[in-house]
Amino acid sequence: MHSRREFLGKLAVSAAVPFVPSFARRSSRLAGGGEKVLKVAIMGLGSYGTRMARAIESCRRVKLTGIITGTPAKREAWQQKYRIPSANCYDYDDFDGIRDNPSIDAVYIITPNALHHDQALRVAAAGKHVISEKPMALTAIQGQQMVDACDRAGVKLLVGYRMHFEPLTLEVLRMRRQGEFGTLRFFQGQSGFRIGDPTQWRLNRKLSGGGAMMDIGIYAINGARYMTGLEPLWVTAQQTKTDPVKFPEGVDETIQFQMGFPDGVVASCLSTYNMNFLDRFYLVGDKGFAELHPATGYGPIRGRTHQGPLTSTAATQQTLQMDAMAGIILDGDTPMVPADGTEGVRDLKIIDAIYESCRTGQLCRLE
Ligand code: NAD
Repeated sequence: MHSRREFLGKLAVSAAVPFVPSFARRSSRLAGGGEKVLKVAIMGLGSYGTRMARAIESCRRVKLTGIITGTPAKREAWQQKYRIPSANCYDYDDFDGIRDNPSIDAVYIITPNALHHDQALRVAAAGKHVISEKPMALTAIQGQQMVDACDRAGVKLLVGYRMHFEPLTLEVLRMRRQGEFGTLRFFQGQSGFRIGDPTQWRLNRKLSGGGAMMDIGIYAINGARYMTGLEPLWVTAQQTKTDPVKFPEGVDETIQFQMGFPDGVVASCLSTYNMNFLDRFYLVGDKGFAELHPATGYGPIRGRTHQGPLTSTAATQQTLQMDAMAGIILDGDTPMVPADGTEGVRDLKIIDAIYESCRTGQLCRLE
């Protein structure tokens, strides 16, 4: 049986790389220099929350200081493992109390998709920074409400876009910015895996907000945007369903979609819960190309360009992500690719348009 965890986990080995992003250089230069540490509580102690907690152990600038869970057994186990005092443990009913807790600066929301919106509004109302897993919400309207609520509360809102801090990805973006691929023409993004357990929340529309598109297709959308550095003007999309029992109404199994960008750049993408071995980005310009394959797994990311192979260094993506996010929240650092709420809303606008195009069979223009 395949699960998303197994799919990504197979790719989760440390890797080795010549490229060190600027935030990493900065962090190491400041290490031990008394810089501030971001105190984070994780909300949702499931599979990705567990992975994130482990990665935070290796962070220079982030400490796991709190948890929010509805499961007493997990609370006890995490308290012991991460030495979290009872005063920093909350459940889903009482976590508004973090307002009065100086040991928590930010809450990382790692619950099913449909819960992110309300939970983020409550965290913001408690005056704490919000990091939300992707997709940040179910619709662009909800996402914008999160952005507005965080702005009003004077807290930062980030989305768990770990690839925005991944060294090989950033090396390709550096090459693109320096014109090494020439004039861009085409992007191909394939994102999918064969999902297992039919009872999981990812296949329950109320909790997931959709199907493969919300979960894994979002990587192809987000990747098309950061790989090209462009915002799409239109989308077209077609849906294929081979198993309407496992993928009921409103839960997409496979969607092919196309995006049109300025200057005639086009993207062709696939999002699926019904095929393995699909995690590949391919960018082509008139002077060269870049291929990342795997492009978004937990690592190592592998790649090549017209100039030869790209190699990576040892780095846990989530550790890099969280140290960089500490810099963004505490020091106002600007990452090479934004990972803020507005970035999340852009992806949700495209997802909204893809679903609309599937429904209507028409090309859908984006503002
Ligand atoms: P999971 O099912 O393993 O964990 C979800 C957690 O939420 C569980 O601890 C569960 O108890 C808790 N929860 C709270 N309220 C719940 C409710 N009403 N119904 C069900 N569970 C509830 O899921 P996961 O794989 O950890 O995914 C969580 C979020 O993280 C999703 O938004 C997912 O898209 C995201 N994610 C991101 C990445 C990434 O690489 N950025 C990877 C995996 C998951």
